Amino acid sequence: MISGRLLSLSPYKTETTPARIKLSSNELSIEFPEEVKKRIAQEVSKIPFNRYPDPSASLLKEAIAQRLGIDEKNILLGNGSDELIYYLSIAVGEFDRGIFYPVPTFSMYGISAQVIGRERVEVSLEEDFDIDLPNSLRAIEERSPALAYFAYPNNPTGNCFSEHKIRKIREKGLFIVIDEAYYNYSGKTFIEEALQREDTVVLRTLSKIGMAGLRVGFMVAKEEIIRELNKIRLPFNITYPSQVIARLMLTEFYDLIEEEIKKVIRERERLYREMSSMEGIRVYPSSANFILFKSLSMPASLLHKKLVEKGVLIRDFSYLVPQCLRVSIGKKEENDAFLEALYKCMI
Ligand code: PMP
Repeated sequence: MISGRLLSLSPYKTETTPARIKLSSNELSIEFPEEVKKRIAQEVSKIPFNRYPDPSASLLKEAIAQRLGIDEKNILLGNGSDELIYYLSIAVGEFDRGIFYPVPTFSMYGISAQVIGRERVEVSLEEDFDIDLPNSLRAIEERSPALAYFAYPNNPTGNCFSEHKIRKIREKGLFIVIDEAYYNYSGKTFIEEALQREDTVVLRTLSKIGMAGLRVGFMVAKEEIIRELNKIRLPFNITYPSQVIARLMLTEFYDLIEEEIKKVIRERERLYREMSSMEGIRVYPSSANFILFKSLSMPASLLHKKLVEKGVLIRDFSYLVPQCLRVSIGKKEENDAFLEALYKCMI
């Protein structure tokens, strides 16, 4: 018998509609050169995949630690940061204490809580998408959650919450998870605090910097916390090819990725400017690799459909944020195609 907890659960939603231009999943739009692909093929062909991979993925962990300038002991790898969200929801606090997160936000916080039957303490963000501190503190006082998630920058709104508000919530005794999936586009981090404090961890991922298909996420925390969470990590959670390819990309080809990240940030500013001058939409500022905007002249679902008809796929987020859609920042040509399609939908 399937647990009643699952009956009210909706599966993780994503966009799978085929389209010429895909700007729906916040991936990095990058075509790696042939030279890179050949080098990868070379290394992948050496993998003895009849064997299990290194259970602790130590070579990949070493590459990540070096990039961050931290110790490997402070890193836990996950099959995407999604897996680490599950681990944290299972490991932090007792199940009779809830999980706090401001909404709208990334859906996995709520899904992971629901799966294990923990109370979801959701508090709506303010108009400008920052944390509503008085209401958050009230909810925490009344419902006493043990764990809090903050997507920083937040998905789908694109902003970084005020740091002092996050810290105020932590002062109430909650264990806080700062999900920095979009760190490379914001440059803002809580890593120093995660390395020093027992009540703060940071999540990062390779998904938004060109390696979504490899499914590699990681947590940065004090060694004691990593050691405890490692007890519930599924054995061999990072596949052999992912370990090999991610390490190669981080050690030999990271300059290519960095260059693309810079371009995305420039494109984000351009897109923001261009969209701000369009009638029929309201654009929200972003510190991530996507932009949220509101459709003012037609239902968001209709605008989404019209864009798909023009070959451009973005995400309709109106089920979470009224009338809003989210477009990922792609290559210049893709962004131009989006802008042109959007413009045509508006006239
Ligand atoms: N956190 C946030 C805020 C995200 O937006 C996403 C991806 N949509 C994730 C985590 C999950 O990333 P991963 O691919 O590493 O599982």
